[in-house]
Amino acid sequence: MKNLIFTLIILVTAVGCSNEPSSNQPIGEKVLLISFDGFRYDYLSKTDTPNFDKLVETGVISKGLIPIFPSKTFPNHYAIATGLYPENNGFISNSMYDPEMDAIFSMRDREAVENPDWYQGEPIWNTVEKQGKKAGTMFWVGSEAPIQDMHPTHWKVYDQSMGDSARIDTVVKWMSYDDPKQVDFATLYFHFVDSQGHRYGTDSPEVVEAIERADDLMGYLIQRMEEHGLIDHTNLLVVSDHGMANVSRERIVVLDDMIDPNDIEIIEYSPSLMANVKNGDPAAIYNALKEKEENFKVYLKENIPERYHLKNHPRVPDLLMVADIGYTINTQEFFDAREDYPSGAAHGFDNREKEMHAIFIGSGPAFRSGYRMKAFENVHLYELMADLMNITPAPTDGTIDSVSVMLK
Ligand code: AMP
Ligand code: ZN
Ligand code: ZN
Repeated sequence: MKNLIFTLIILVTAVGCSNEPSSNQPIGEKVLLISFDGFRYDYLSKTDTPNFDKLVETGVISKGLIPIFPSKTFPNHYAIATGLYPENNGFISNSMYDPEMDAIFSMRDREAVENPDWYQGEPIWNTVEKQGKKAGTMFWVGSEAPIQDMHPTHWKVYDQSMGDSARIDTVVKWMSYDDPKQVDFATLYFHFVDSQGHRYGTDSPEVVEAIERADDLMGYLIQRMEEHGLIDHTNLLVVSDHGMANVSRERIVVLDDMIDPNDIEIIEYSPSLMANVKNGDPAAIYNALKEKEENFKVYLKENIPERYHLKNHPRVPDLLMVADIGYTINTQEFFDAREDYPSGAAHGFDNREKEMHAIFIGSGPAFRSGYRMKAFENVHLYELMADLMNITPAPTDGTIDSVSVMLK
């Protein structure tokens, strides 16, 4: 009896401890998915990153997170959210045309971004909510649209001007055990590493500064999570959508050297240029490009390699041209109008290219400590997150077996 009372006192004291979750703590661990857009797999080696390093020491880092093709922002964030390849979730590029809807998707068009008809498959936040848990998205591609007539418990319209620490403070509050609507799953998104990469190139001091800013943010996030007793009960997934490769005026492919650009309608631009044929036979245009296939690859829709998991979707147009790494395809007119174009860096190249690979770090109670994982495809992350939250995944293109080696 004495022993029992003693144990009870210890238990009550432990629960009452300020840095520990209160009795509101749900069963199971939380997941926080953080994306730094355009954070290449090797960026941590460019500068000192004490906060990332701590996560790596106590958790898992992979040699790379392999993006889906095309290695662009919207398709990859949505592949991560759904565990599906583009031909199964509809996000075949940042810009696309849907013949049935007779509509164009552009990520700058708010109405399109918020229209659920563009988004197929089931994003992880819906799986979370359907199974009695709660989700909050501080920006994620797809979270602004009522996919399957649902929204996460908390979500925000994308606002690039929102401050970094305000984003973190809000998400920590959503996750906090004191919040009556506390979420089990949350996302954070930051665009600035991508922007600086595009503008200044991957070897610039501006990219180094952006990496250091990301590291500072991780430090701030961890501190806030510690204050709220969240850190020991949350699995952190730090990811990116793709890497980045330098481009230059010395490496260009001019369409006019091969075809009349007026014969095609460009829907998505280089490095993964997608076009419909306006005048004439697609096969004839394809043959003209194929004959001079240097520093790029060209495919008719039906011949797009299986490994791109792209061609079986009606949104894929007649032609796909993929620039070799570092090259830029465009029209003579476009190059003539922009003397210094292209400069800096780009992404959208073949997802096999190492420079297109993104970062992955997993850290938290479920992850092995100090484990180095081989590169893996980002379509497995949905299954990983479902497993971490102990929820049943919707059908996906990923498997938990591909990533379970990183778990304890
Ligand atoms: P990319 O052209 O592929 O480099 O796209 C990167 C850009 O996507 C970032 O600079 C963001 O401004 C933008 N972005 C990311 N998420 C969203 C969103 N949910 N809605 C609109 N734009 C977004
Ligand atoms: Zn991106
Ligand atoms: Zn970008």
